[in-house]
Amino acid sequence: MTRASIPAERFAERLERARSVAARAGLDALLVGVGADLRYLAGYAALPLERLTLLVVPTAPGSPVTLVAPRLEAAPARACPAAATGAVGLATWEETEDPMLLVASVLGAAAGRPASALGAVAVSDSLRAAFVLGLQRVLPGARFSLASAVLRELRMRKDEDEIALLREAAHAADRVVAQIAAGRLVGRTEADVAHEVRDRLVAEGHDQSEFWIVASGPNSASPHHEPGERVIRAGEPVVIDIGGTLGGYGSDITRTIWIDGGDPALRPHPDFARLYGVLRDAQAAATAAVRPGIPAEAVDAVARDAITAAGFGPNFIHRTGHGIGLEGHEDPYLVAGNAEPLAVANAFSIEPGIYLEGRFGARIEDIVVCGESGPVILNEMTRELQVVPG
Ligand code: ZN
Ligand code: ZN
Ligand code: ZN
Repeated sequence: MTRASIPAERFAERLERARSVAARAGLDALLVGVGADLRYLAGYAALPLERLTLLVVPTAPGSPVTLVAPRLEAAPARACPAAATGAVGLATWEETEDPMLLVASVLGAAAGRPASALGAVAVSDSLRAAFVLGLQRVLPGARFSLASAVLRELRMRKDEDEIALLREAAHAADRVVAQIAAGRLVGRTEADVAHEVRDRLVAEGHDQSEFWIVASGPNSASPHHEPGERVIRAGEPVVIDIGGTLGGYGSDITRTIWIDGGDPALRPHPDFARLYGVLRDAQAAATAAVRPGIPAEAVDAVARDAITAAGFGPNFIHRTGHGIGLEGHEDPYLVAGNAEPLAVANAFSIEPGIYLEGRFGARIEDIVVCGESGPVILNEMTRELQVVPG
């Protein structure tokens, strides 16, 4: 199996696009700390240290992009694709230096005037408060804003290679759910099964496992249930909501299965079967509604209206979905109040749920990409109710 990846040249293109959007927004520079934005622009998955690592992207035409990094991180910083291809230069600071002064001198050189005279900069949303305050100290004249205003548009539009990674991640997660559903469950604790999920996600190609919800019986009515010591029994549902990252990109799938223990008397309770049918149809209808231009909140409404019409409106207690990419939850959010239209190559989850507290619940979740003419569903596992012996 060949793993998809982001070609090294892509980062120079992304930096150029970010620079021109930032310039149009009237910014003098983008200041991007450790996190998904840095990974997006430079391919650098830097450690989130208390020492400053900062990508300095001045908007002055032709000015160099500089990765400011602590000296002891020089090797990994130099090896990131943006640095290795020469799209960014490296400037390191010693333990005894003030890295903020280095940032100021890099900015001043790019702008051709003292950094203290810069008018507007944007910082990445996850930049530590201590770093933001340090930057404000050396850029006293600058208005600070969030870089997401510039970067969200770029990051929401996945390129072909990003979609290939999301698809690989989705298929790996599909396989893990199938393996868990086919395995022994009855008599095991949720925590034990969750541990198996963590191992299998990595065995199927993920860089790391990030979450592993296994919610059995009445716990299935709690959307973010923490798997615990409850022993799984025959004659009840199990919600499995799992994911991790593969090549940096997230997987996130939920399937709800019913365990009958091989006993026909323990087939799905009629109330559960009805609930599941309503949910499956609502999830399918919301997915089918995906197309360029539809407001994000309208996709939420399709799922919610179907669930409400069946009498379960008060039992659908969360938004329909979230964007996914380098972060597990990112723009766009499919939620009432977000009128932003979906665009081609947006990637997001569609995950309605119905929860009857104290009894049982169910959720079905796929990762979907908005295609030119409709939805492209990355997960391939069936959405029909699987009744397994467990
Ligand atoms: Zn969730
Ligand atoms: Zn999920
Ligand atoms: Zn999700």
